[in-house]
Amino acid sequence: MLKIQNDPTAGHDSGTPPASIYGMALEQFQAAADRLGIDEGIRRVLSTPKRELTVAIPVRMDDGEVRVFRGYRVQHNLSRGPGKGGIRYHPDVTLDEVKALAMWMTWKCAITGIPYGGAKGGVACDPRGMSEAELERMTRRYATEISILIGPDRDIPAPDMNTDGRIMAWIMDTISMHGGFTVPGIVTGKPVSIGGSLGRVDATGRGVMIAVREAAARLGMDLRGARMVVQGYGNVGSTAARLLAQEGCVLIAAADSLGSSYYEGGIDPNDLGAHERSTGTVGGYPGSEPVSPRELMSLPCDILIPAALEAQIRGDNAAGVRARVVVEGANGPTTPEADRILEDKGVMVVPDILANAGGVVVSYFEWVQDIQRYFWDIGEINQKMDRIIADSFAEIFAISQREKVDLREAAMLLAVSRLEEAIKVRGLYP
Ligand code: NAD
Repeated sequence: MLKIQNDPTAGHDSGTPPASIYGMALEQFQAAADRLGIDEGIRRVLSTPKRELTVAIPVRMDDGEVRVFRGYRVQHNLSRGPGKGGIRYHPDVTLDEVKALAMWMTWKCAITGIPYGGAKGGVACDPRGMSEAELERMTRRYATEISILIGPDRDIPAPDMNTDGRIMAWIMDTISMHGGFTVPGIVTGKPVSIGGSLGRVDATGRGVMIAVREAAARLGMDLRGARMVVQGYGNVGSTAARLLAQEGCVLIAAADSLGSSYYEGGIDPNDLGAHERSTGTVGGYPGSEPVSPRELMSLPCDILIPAALEAQIRGDNAAGVRARVVVEGANGPTTPEADRILEDKGVMVVPDILANAGGVVVSYFEWVQDIQRYFWDIGEINQKMDRIIADSFAEIFAISQREKVDLREAAMLLAVSRLEEAIKVRGLYP
């Protein structure tokens, strides 16, 4: 059984989520397109995903029953290179959400200068209720159904919520069996034993740590003793907490889909991880008290790291945020309405497409290593990734100062202008 990762009801607050996550992504794009004066044709191209594939995934369950799951793969734009983006397993996965996530991948690759377009995939399923064998059969059939789109030169999936190296290994094996030869470059985030990269598991959380470091330097904030709150204690949230603790930050609260723990005196992120592994949740950590999702978001702290789902900081709770900086480990955790409220309050928001780009950067390194059949050491990987995130931060910060816009809009200006250029130089086929 896959470890419990989410209960869609437990962590949500009572506020209204946006009607469409893709609508939220479009709103961010349109604001940047307006400011850049992008012409109408390019606007239409970038507002419309290039390919949207919906598949039926019939799976024989352990009791003999056949169930059919819905799966998706969306390629938003491939002007700058092959598609790149994770695969999410979650009961709430919809085509609308996958389209938004694919669009954000386009921007993320553009601002970090990585030669990929944006893509994303997902299957609407509840992995908690499935055995390992059922998950494997579903994954292999999903990989087969989307094999008409993916490939090392075409579109390269990676892990996202509730998917991990083991699932990437099944996808890689399935595509390799079809081809009759091993295709390591088909996915990233694989185990190191089959062509994965050192540093990939920690890469997104490490990138979040670097983004916090860069933000703190601009805010004149000392990381030693800085208090942090983390929502979502999975791959991204737990790694960010652990690496930031090494920089001197103090974790005062963390939450996952099943519970939360708050202790002003500081929680050891490694101990919390061990507690989570043994009990299935970060809730109930000895000596701590639980807080509601709304309370978690409004705890006085220096650094707030949403690292779970979209639309967690919204119009109805943004005013309560008392952090100095919000660093988005998750994709799309802040709605445009909340962005405006946070900006008015003077809270710095380091946007997802920058803050969590460490994962795609090391995925890119993995793909390069697979293609070259030549593997790098961990020092080289972490150093190269650090430089890309720090340089991208500096570039975006400079744009935000020059244009007098927040960091999200600055990042979007950079991303959209790079896409505009790529689309123009390639020209419109035919
Ligand atoms: P994960 O499955 O490892 O962890 C997700 C965590 O969020 C779990 O602790 C889960 O319990 C918690 N969670 C889920 N719903 C919640 C809720 N309603 N309230 C509180 N906690 C909740 O996933 P991950 O890979 O860490 O991804 C987390 C986020 O980071 C996602 O938005 C994902 O798209 C984004 N992201 C991940 C990567 C990556 O490399 N894994 C890269 C970039 C962005």
